[in-house]
Amino acid sequence: MHTQLIAAQLERKQLRASSRKHRPRGLPIILFGPPGSGKGTQARLLAGKFGIPAISTGEMLRHGTGCAFDKTIQRTMQAGQLISDELMNHLLGARLKRPDCANGFILDGFPRSVSQAEYLKSFLKDLGMPRPIIFHLTVPDAEVVRRLTHRLECPTCGETISVDGDPDVITCTCSHDGAKLGHRDDDVAETIYTRLKSYKATVAEMVRIFAGDSYFEVGAMEAPNSVAAHLAELVRTGI
Ligand code: ADP
Repeated sequence: MHTQLIAAQLERKQLRASSRKHRPRGLPIILFGPPGSGKGTQARLLAGKFGIPAISTGEMLRHGTGCAFDKTIQRTMQAGQLISDELMNHLLGARLKRPDCANGFILDGFPRSVSQAEYLKSFLKDLGMPRPIIFHLTVPDAEVVRRLTHRLECPTCGETISVDGDPDVITCTCSHDGAKLGHRDDDVAETIYTRLKSYKATVAEMVRIFAGDSYFEVGAMEAPNSVAAHLAELVRTGI
């Protein structure tokens, strides 16, 4: 009897150890939200808080991918349209395999289609990562347009600032690296509407695909640091 008890205890211990060994590890976070909802800013703030990289697919593309399609990519972006799923999945997959992503990452701008969402889901599984935490940042359309037309961005580090006067007459330099801030080529009214329309056409489907994961809709009208504190709290309590 005594031996049976010890054997059962040992088996339970081994089971616990093996489930610990195979428990998914890492912190994958996805940010959804319309252009101008502050995904880039929040990604950078959360990256600092949790020591994992912020990955913006828009920034990756703006910096140039080094592939033969760079000119086509820049033209597509200027028109506010989406890059092909095949190329995006390939680029993102290569980025997520880098060692700095081993403990997690924050995605800003990916996924943006069913194919990308499914690619990411199976990629996380292959990496042995848990299901992602999703933050859906919400802001009214009028605020999107106001923010984007008043936004200046550093071409080097991607930092953005908002200028409240006439953005066309203000020249500023980046406080991090001194580069001259400028308007993004796609931050013009017509392209903003195209991007907003494309976002609205896909977001419900994205949310549906990740239903069952940790999903939080968060109003993003407050100051960036308050929004980030709220998101960080949700990460800490939501996992
Ligand atoms: P925003 O969210 O403010 O529109 P981003 O910097 O995320 O801006 O993206 C800029 C552009 O880069 C998009 O309009 C699109 O052309 C391209 N892009 C970025 N991410 C993706 C993606 N996941 N799939 C397809 N195109 C993308």
